[in-house]
Amino acid sequence: TKGRVLNFGAGPGCLPEEVLITAQNELLNFQGSGKSIMELSHRGKEFTKVIEETKANLKLLLKVPDNYDILFLQGGATSLFAGIPLNLCDGPSDTIDFLVTGAWSKAAYNEAKLYTKANAVIDMESSKFLSVVNPAEWKFSEKPAYIHYCDNETVHGIEMPTNVYEYTPAGVPIVCDMSSNFLSKPVDVSKYGVIFAGAQKNAGIAGITIVIARHDLISRSKPNVPNVFNFLKKSQQNSLDNTPPTFNIYITGLVLKWLIKNGGLEAADKRNQEKADLLYKTINESNDFYCCYIDEKYRSKMNVCFRIKGGDNDLEEKFFKQAEQNGISDIKGHRSVGGIRVSLYNAMTLQGTEILINFMKKFMSENK
Ligand code: PMP
Repeated sequence: TKGRVLNFGAGPGCLPEEVLITAQNELLNFQGSGKSIMELSHRGKEFTKVIEETKANLKLLLKVPDNYDILFLQGGATSLFAGIPLNLCDGPSDTIDFLVTGAWSKAAYNEAKLYTKANAVIDMESSKFLSVVNPAEWKFSEKPAYIHYCDNETVHGIEMPTNVYEYTPAGVPIVCDMSSNFLSKPVDVSKYGVIFAGAQKNAGIAGITIVIARHDLISRSKPNVPNVFNFLKKSQQNSLDNTPPTFNIYITGLVLKWLIKNGGLEAADKRNQEKADLLYKTINESNDFYCCYIDEKYRSKMNVCFRIKGGDNDLEEKFFKQAEQNGISDIKGHRSVGGIRVSLYNAMTLQGTEILINFMKKFMSENK
């Protein structure tokens, strides 16, 4: 649409235009109710249908087994850095094992320490989060309450392989922060105890956190876990014990319908792989004009981080400026890392990615 730019932001990220148009069309009068979705009771028949459909479509897309429940929470993924230890641990003497592979798993590790013991199985900060130690060398503690890792480190551009569970001790639940690659590819939910994700990258807008948790872990929640985080209470009341972020759930519902219409997660994975391959190929073949320092085995398909000429700040500034003039927006790396970060979430098209790549090639030829 005229006036809209190519948004490569890391989150809140781009949404499918179709979703925005549907939301716009339905804004004043939601499906004949005479009210907007934002003005409807969370217990009324219209919203009940929205939340049920949204849950059912998440179940369908991710093939969520019957012994799991889907919860909608508020407070962002960050709230669960406290919420999950509170729900799943018995008390301060429990230990949680963390794979610290970037800023977000580190944040979760640091917050868990306020409630219980936290053990860093690996901590990649000393090598600037550019790689991950070989799984054969991961050392888990004796009896962890669970293992936490982040599937895709949004700030550092590190994405874990899909088979992490093959390297963790049998019987220990795995808790996975999938905030920035949720719904980007198929996932075997049965391998996880809890999967959680803020919606604002691939699944909607900021303000809703999606939790997929196994029933036996949900039932670990004790009554003194605050209601807003309490997995058991949320599950028993279908996330409607208090007013949920209704508009946000509605937008997630629209995103899920868009995903299903476009071939589900297998098709999304294929599109994402193609976009990421094209971009990394451009970087790899640029003769070090563009350089990605991240271990090839762990390069994220969602957040592609790279530098120009080994970190030439002036040239990078020029790159950002010219990109903006070409309708390419939000490609600045996280302030703690610098450089460039291009996020290729589900809603970014192949065509948009190709426009960026052509710009990169032109910029390279003019600034070699
Ligand atoms: N985990 C990951 C992987 C993230 O990318 C983010 C946000 N960018 C968070 C957690 C925190 O999410 P929120 O801002 O929704 O609290």
